[in-house]
Amino acid sequence: MYIAISGVVSSALGCFCDYKRARRRILNMSENKNEIRESFEPAYIKLHKSGELRKRAEMLLESLKNCNLCPRECGVDRLSGELGVCRAPFDVYISSAHPHFGEEPPLVGTNGSGTIFFTHCSLRCVFCINYEISHLGEGYKVSYEKLADAMLRLQKVMGCHNINLVTPTHYMPQILMALDIAASKGLSVPVVYNTSGWEKVEMLKYLDGVVDIYMPDFKYYDSEMSSKYSAGAGSYPEITKKAILEMHRQVGVLKVSPRGIAQRGLIIRHLVMPNNVSGSKDVMRWISQNLPEDTYINIMSQYMPVYKAKEYPEIGRRITYNEYYEVVDEVKRLGFTNLEIQGM
Ligand code: SF4
Repeated sequence: MYIAISGVVSSALGCFCDYKRARRRILNMSENKNEIRESFEPAYIKLHKSGELRKRAEMLLESLKNCNLCPRECGVDRLSGELGVCRAPFDVYISSAHPHFGEEPPLVGTNGSGTIFFTHCSLRCVFCINYEISHLGEGYKVSYEKLADAMLRLQKVMGCHNINLVTPTHYMPQILMALDIAASKGLSVPVVYNTSGWEKVEMLKYLDGVVDIYMPDFKYYDSEMSSKYSAGAGSYPEITKKAILEMHRQVGVLKVSPRGIAQRGLIIRHLVMPNNVSGSKDVMRWISQNLPEDTYINIMSQYMPVYKAKEYPEIGRRITYNEYYEVVDEVKRLGFTNLEIQGM
C-alpha cells in the first residue's frame, strides 16, 4: 500500500496551482508490483522511428482547418487565424518551461518534472488559479524547433525525469510535431499529458503509443456544476469518464522504476471544492467501480477562490478541514491503495 501525504504543487490546467508546502510521505517499500525496469523506453520513440508520429502530427495539423480537437467542437479555421472558445491561435504560445518540484513525487524524483505550461484553455473555469495564462493567454510564441529545444533542455541540461505538458489539448498537433523533432535529437524521457480530463476519446486515440503518463483531473461529477463554473461545459462528467477509461486502456495503472520514478500509467487528480461542488465522493465511487484499486489518485486540498470565484458565494472560500477529510475517509473506505493525500 502506498499513501503519500503531501502539499503538491499542482499544474494541471484544471489546476495550474503553485503552492509549496511541506511534504511527508509514507511508502511501504515491501509493495513493488508497480515497479518496472529502469531502462524503460518511452512509447513515442517507436512511433518516431516508424514515421507514424510525424504522420499523426501532420494529419492533426490539417484538422485545424476545422478545429474539433476538444469537446467544444468549434469548427473554426485556426490555419486562417480564426479563434475558437479556447482563444488559442495556430502558433503555439507557452508561459514557461522549467523543472517543477511540486508535482506528484513519482514525477518529481530528484531532478524535477520538466513542466511546460501552454497558454489558453478550452475548459475556462471561473476559479482557475492561473487565469493569466489559461484565460488571458500570457506567454510567448515558440516554433516547433524551439519547443523541441525546450524539451531537450529539460531532459539533458536540467535532468528532468519527464516532459510534463500542462494543458496541451488545444495544441496537440503542434506538440506532436515538436515531439517528433525532439525524439530525432535524443529525447528519451516519458511524456506526461497533464489535462483537465475533458478530452474526446477519438483524439486520445492519436496519443495511443505517444503518451506514457496521463494525468487528468476529474473535476466534477455533476453536469450542472461543470456547466456553471466551466463556461457551459455540461458534458464534462460524461466525457471525462470516457476519457479516463481510454487513458487507462492505453497505459494502465502507474508503474514506477526501482528508484520510484513514474514511467507509464495513469494519475488522477481531484480537487476538493467548497460545498461539494466537485461531487468528490461520487467521483471516488465511480473510480472504485471502474478502475483498479491501485489506481494512483491525488486528493487535492488547495482550492483557492481566485479569478472570478468570488462572484459565486458557494465557491468563494477555501475548503474546510471536515470537507477535505470526509473525502479522504471515503477514499480509504473504498480500499484504494495508491493515494496521494495533501492534507490541510
Ligand atoms: S481546441 Fe479550441 S478551437 Fe478547437 S474545438 Fe477546442 S475550444 Fe474550439
